[in-house]
Amino acid sequence: TRALQLAPADRSKVYVADLESAVHYTLRMEAGRPAVLAGAQLAALKCYVATLAKYFPGRPSVQTFLQSLDSWLRNWTEPELPRSALKEAVKNKDASPAAVLPTNITWVGCRGSEPHFRGYPCGLWTIFHLLTVQAAQGGPDQELPLEVLNTMRCYVKHFFGCQECAQHFEAMAAKSMDQVKSRNEAVLWLWSHHNEVNARLAGGDTEDPQFPKLQWPPPDMCPQCHREERGVHTWDEAAVLSFLKEHFSPGNLCLDHAV
Ligand code: FAD
Repeated sequence: TRALQLAPADRSKVYVADLESAVHYTLRMEAGRPAVLAGAQLAALKCYVATLAKYFPGRPSVQTFLQSLDSWLRNWTEPELPRSALKEAVKNKDASPAAVLPTNITWVGCRGSEPHFRGYPCGLWTIFHLLTVQAAQGGPDQELPLEVLNTMRCYVKHFFGCQECAQHFEAMAAKSMDQVKSRNEAVLWLWSHHNEVNARLAGGDTEDPQFPKLQWPPPDMCPQCHREERGVHTWDEAAVLSFLKEHFSPGNLCLDHAV
């Protein structure tokens, strides 16, 4: 199959193709599902697009796309947004400068060994790790610590197609998200709760046998992240934070297979 012919992705990289495929999927598939958006659901979409426009380290044409969609949504002050209007707004415009978000779905780092494994949920996690890190690089640590996490919480609650996943995530958020006091803590909150999900799903039937769920980053990716105290594994959180800031940085994005 095609999947087997492609060279395996480099797990130390973050792929632009995965990010753009996932953003495309959120805006043109998931957000376009309800016939009308209103109330908290419309607010969740506006908040998601505003956060992308602010922090997504996209290519210039993608940034233009996100910025023009963000201003279009800000100007939409009616209480209801019909699907037809949203569909039109998320189309590519070949005005100058071009505002383009590719319309194809190509999974690279998120490609599963079978089509039903990995893909979009992997891309969604990747987007939000990247956004929490960009927010932590971009401004005062104590200011709006929950900006990106709240955006993710609302997006997942109102749009993520896997409802069981959304319920699990909402339960984790309700339990501890309000304890996050800084943007650096937000990066670590998402990392540790993603690991909680990995632990819960390890060995289950949604696990791609070629990509077993790990506590991430594994020692070969980040030896300094791991410690042992009296025979018990612990994380060096300062090392993990540095690792995440490096891994989810614009400099670690790879354009392979991006169109
Ligand atoms: P993913 O877990 O999707 O991870 C994607 C990539 O992120 C990895 O390849 C790795 O590079 C990196 N990564 C891994 N762990 C971390 C970490 N701790 N911190 C930073 N980066 C990391 N599936 C279910 O079956 N049940 C659920 O309840 C469920 N809940 C979900 C909730 C949310 C919010 C999301 C986005 C997904 C959920 N999923 C759930 C899907 C599941 O978590 C995986 O996304 C899916 O199984 C694909 O797994 P994957 O191997 O591609 O790696």
